[in-house]
Amino acid sequence: MSTYSDHELKAFYEDCLTARKKSYSPYSKYPVGCVLLDDKGQKHLGCNIETAHYKSNCAEATAIGHMIMAGGSKIKDIFVIGSSGEELCSPCGDCRQRIREFANDGIGIYCFSESGTLLRRYSMEELLPGSFGPENLSEKRS
Ligand SMILES: [Zn+2]
Repeated sequence: MSTYSDHELKAFYEDCLTARKKSYSPYSKYPVGCVLLDDKGQKHLGCNIETAHYKSNCAEATAIGHMIMAGGSKIKDIFVIGSSGEELCSPCGDCRQRIREFANDGIGIYCFSESGTLLRRYSMEELLPGSFGPENLSEKRS
């Protein structure tokens, strides 16, 4: 798992805030922002985008979509901020599987409080233990 300086973490926190400002969350009124760093060193931002039928796009899904569209394929690390003050906002169950799909070995999943305190840094195994992933299928197909 990567370690970052306070300066680098502050930059990721500010990216999360920038992304969160774009949130379209009229139903939950719970904006979320996210930035991921891909394995090529490119950053991709995402916010949650809700719809009236409640099958909404999470911030992590938006950021992953941006990564894919930009030609990236693996997430080195991902950073998330919600709207829970100093309480933890960790990726939802769907996003844990989404992140797992594109996770680089050694990925860190970082959760900031609204004020910028790094509340948790998860490994993939901590966030989604015993997970099912792409290699489960590729082994059967090769
Ligand atoms: Zn989610």
